[in-house]
Amino acid sequence: MDWQEHLLGIFPRDLAVDLGTANTLIYVRGKGIVLNEPSIVALADHDGSVLAVGREAKEIHGKTPLHVRTLRPLKDGVIADFDATNKMINHFVRKVLKRSFLIGPVMVVGVPSNITDVEKRVVVESAREAGARKVYLIAETMAAAIGADVPVFETGAHMVVDIGGGTTEVGVIAFHATAFAESLSVAGDEMNEAIVNYVRKNLNLDIGLYEAERIKIEIGSAAPLAMPLETTVMGRDLVTGVPKKVAVNDEMIREALEPPIDVIVKFIKACLEKLSPEISAELLKTGILLAGGGAQLRGLAERISSETSLEVRVASDPLTTVVRGTGKVVEDLARMKVVCLR
Ligand code: ADP
Ligand code: MG
Repeated sequence: MDWQEHLLGIFPRDLAVDLGTANTLIYVRGKGIVLNEPSIVALADHDGSVLAVGREAKEIHGKTPLHVRTLRPLKDGVIADFDATNKMINHFVRKVLKRSFLIGPVMVVGVPSNITDVEKRVVVESAREAGARKVYLIAETMAAAIGADVPVFETGAHMVVDIGGGTTEVGVIAFHATAFAESLSVAGDEMNEAIVNYVRKNLNLDIGLYEAERIKIEIGSAAPLAMPLETTVMGRDLVTGVPKKVAVNDEMIREALEPPIDVIVKFIKACLEKLSPEISAELLKTGILLAGGGAQLRGLAERISSETSLEVRVASDPLTTVVRGTGKVVEDLARMKVVCLR
């Protein structure tokens, strides 16, 4: 398709979509990232109709009136709610396309590499209902590799660890294909839950998940810090039942985060043990690429590096690596479509 067809307005621009457990991002061919919103849907209790999607739905969450239910349709990396997933994709694509076209866009959608055939069909069907004329699926770890400029068309092997909200995905990419893929349903969400539990147990304070996430981002770490960090948590005192503020420091939050961090590090090591000796040897040269929002946790890269003895690099802007990689596929589909799933 060329610019003349764009001018005629027959074809919309092609789209790249990162359908994450925590965030959905959309990249428009020739334009870049145009949408970045939480993967959340707010539904009316009585008939399941969609009241809000994305950022708007997130604002409702937690303060939910009784007749409204918010849900994250992809929470654990598996599509928990087909209908809500469908509605969410539809809403976001419409928001991006703004008007309807006679012929729909090509859509490349990032999905977990271990997605089932049923789930693949749900994603493809949802994209079609949202107007796509053709849908390609790409493994998120492959997309992350491309987004981080890993030379996926060369023969070397590369390991990608994508730590999102609901899942940690490990993928080994070799010669534009996935040589190994495994997924763990412990990632950023579990870190938030670990903070909620720690604060409840040790400080007698009941806090919400979003407050826990804020603390994690502000002062969370996976290894001791050079400079101490501190913040104030706000919640409800479990003894008196009234609102209360308590100071927490990086050491406390590090202790809170240790259980999920330990599970993630052990998972990465278990994946390494399953690789062929040829791939293992390659990784000594190429190391591990960290992507996803969880990659930003202080000290996590160093921690993984010291426990695996491999070099670990954090992708630049890890929250957008997958959609930028998927965007590169959309920009040059003829050459790049070999990296997509069949
Ligand atoms: P997904 O692909 O599953 O939608 P993302 O890659 O968007 O997930 O990452 C979202 C996760 O990253 C959330 O759990 C969020 O709390 C976490 N996150 C974002 N920024 C940071 C940060 N600076 N430190 C630690 N975790 C972070
Ligand atoms: Mg992701």
